[in-house]
Amino acid sequence: MDIKTYGVIGAGQMGNGIAQVASMSGLNVIMNDINTEFVERGMANITKILGKNVDKGKITADEKDAVLGRIKTSVALKDMEEADFVVEAATENEPIKMQIFKDLDEICKPDTILSTNTSSIPIGRIAAQTKRPEKVIGMHFMNPVPVMKLVEIIKGIATSEETFKTTWDLSLKFGKTPAEANDYPGFIANRILLPMINEAVFCLYHSVGTPEAIDTVMKLGMNHPMGPLALADLIGLDTCLAIMETLYNGFKDSKYRPCPLLRKYVEAGWLGRKTGRGFYNYR
Ligand code: NAD
Repeated sequence: MDIKTYGVIGAGQMGNGIAQVASMSGLNVIMNDINTEFVERGMANITKILGKNVDKGKITADEKDAVLGRIKTSVALKDMEEADFVVEAATENEPIKMQIFKDLDEICKPDTILSTNTSSIPIGRIAAQTKRPEKVIGMHFMNPVPVMKLVEIIKGIATSEETFKTTWDLSLKFGKTPAEANDYPGFIANRILLPMINEAVFCLYHSVGTPEAIDTVMKLGMNHPMGPLALADLIGLDTCLAIMETLYNGFKDSKYRPCPLLRKYVEAGWLGRKTGRGFYNYR
């Protein structure tokens, strides 16, 4: 399939990173969010990151302008009628995503592939909201998108080989390394990562160690580039909680129960870096 226009739903930390990477690969991009403030914030972030790349000599000022010029912003989902391929990177909330897929199915051309960057919600369940389940797939980028090499590609039960191949090839075009996963809650990445992060939160909850001690043990003892609590703050504690809930509800296995302290932080609005406060204070 010839993909020329790539639609991105959600201009948050993942959505704006995906839009940047897609535009850098030469595609036209439409980046959508629910209001002007959010799309402008997304564009400002892309502009800042590209500016740093110019300062470091990685790209020229002309290349920066060309990348920005290929990204159109949108606050109406209807604009996705132009897209050949869409990735949904809205908030990790099942009813929100289900509604977006119902709407996209009505709006988009019949050939358009509808992908999701969900961290954990089953692809088959999302695909069932549409009349094109063979064209629905998981295209799961890692954070920060411009830096991280992996794209986890998740096939739903009805996903066609053609959809899979198009998504795989697109990941390569973006300069990423794809890995294939099947459709179970959390797929591969978050099935392994999130229980580890949740256990780190339990260590804090049980006063086994301070955040600094827990992260130092994992960085220097296990050679992880970041400690699990700092990583949770980067991912967003609301997203971490949502993924643990999906694992817990999906497997009905108590080993996936979210730590009460994680829930407490989310309820207090301490969502990590994006709100300035999580396990660490960023203000
Ligand atoms: P975020 O909170 O930074 O951004 C989400 C954006 O979606 C917000 O700007 C919000 O306004 C927008 N949004 C909500 N409803 C919308 C709608 N109906 N239409 C259009 N936009 C809408 O969250 P994020 O970290 O960018 O996560 C987005 C998705 O990516 C989630 O599914 C998350 O699980 C997944 N993901 C996150 C990470 C991570 O490290 N944060 C990594 C991989 C995947």
